[in-house]
Amino acid sequence: MDRKMVQNESMDMKKDVFEKCFKFTIAYELQKIGVYPYFRVIESAQGPEVIMNGKKMIMIGSNNYLGLTNHPKVKEAAINAIKKYGTGCAGSRFLNGTLDIHVELEEKLARFMRKEAALIFTTGFQVNLGVISSLIGKDDIVIIDKMDHASIVDGCRLSFGEVKRYKHNDIDDLERILRESEGKPRLVVVDGVFSMEGDIVKLPEVVALCKKYGTRLMVDDAHGIGVLGVTGRGTAEHFGLENEVDMIMGTYSKSLASIGGFIAGQKDVINYIKHFGRSFIFSASPPPASVAAVSAAIDIIESEPERREQLWKNTNKMLKGFKELGFDIGVAETPIIPVIVGEDELAFKFVMMLQEEGVFANVAVSPAVPPGKALIRTSYMATHTDEHLDRVLEAFKKVGKALGVI
Ligand code: PMP
Repeated sequence: MDRKMVQNESMDMKKDVFEKCFKFTIAYELQKIGVYPYFRVIESAQGPEVIMNGKKMIMIGSNNYLGLTNHPKVKEAAINAIKKYGTGCAGSRFLNGTLDIHVELEEKLARFMRKEAALIFTTGFQVNLGVISSLIGKDDIVIIDKMDHASIVDGCRLSFGEVKRYKHNDIDDLERILRESEGKPRLVVVDGVFSMEGDIVKLPEVVALCKKYGTRLMVDDAHGIGVLGVTGRGTAEHFGLENEVDMIMGTYSKSLASIGGFIAGQKDVINYIKHFGRSFIFSASPPPASVAAVSAAIDIIESEPERREQLWKNTNKMLKGFKELGFDIGVAETPIIPVIVGEDELAFKFVMMLQEEGVFANVAVSPAVPPGKALIRTSYMATHTDEHLDRVLEAFKKVGKALGVI
């Protein structure tokens, strides 16, 4: 866009907050040469196949791990909730926005996560903002993994406490920080499953250190719930450590087929967050359809364990398939499998060539990943068939060879 058109000529524009916007041209440049991989428009439900530009694509860029966003019972629950309660609550939980189904879902989530209480938020991002900023005061320390999700980082930024970061999944580095920071109240916050790397937190070691150094522990299990654990309760269940984790955070935007999030833990802690979490109090409550969908999704997670089993069959097939083709998948061990390709431009090209082959995948470039380690982020669903997955591997083989990655 022409700068002059958006500038007020009568103002002194030597120091303009918009200056950075006029200089940010890379997105336009990538669009012009047809390798801009973001905001692609999908014209169908978020299934193992989606429609883009009228064409069927295999979707390996979705967090719909159990495939529940399109489950008839989940959709029916959402439709019925709209019929009874309408489309929105027009206010905060704190004031007029608490429905009976909000309270029922909190009780259900507390039971499901085997904690005393739970509190539901309107997005997962807001959970981390509200929980961390309300609990970490100016005399407290919050300790996070360097690869923790952006919402955890932002929750730390909003708190008045000190923030310390340790090297990704590096237990020695975590212990160094715990040793050096003794004497102040501390909270360690980790992702259960890391959203780019696809590896699982070394929870037994983290729990042992938290005990040794008298530190509270919170696990963000956005990508673990529904996926890990014998009954799909996530990372803590996977390791048999549910009683050792003080707080578990979850989102509805992955396995739970909706939008929103929750924190589960001790009653008094949840009650405190309920009265001091600003992203909870000063934001409207989750809409009825979203709440009802989550409740139905939890029922299905409990009654259809075969979905999780199928998800792991698919995951193991893809972990093996990528390795056999000679791709670098880093430390992946879950349905999130990054394929590391190298430079950013190569990754952009790679993902667009996959699109031409009928495969929708995501791309992550620096600063989201270290320079030279750009990756194609792939993730799988219980509803992918063997045929889908074979076609994905074929497409990766073709593009990987054409671009000299394998
Ligand atoms: N935590 C993690 C680990 C995530 O991956 C995400 C979303 N990608 C969030 C929190 C935020 O969740 P939501 O999308 O529900 O806001």
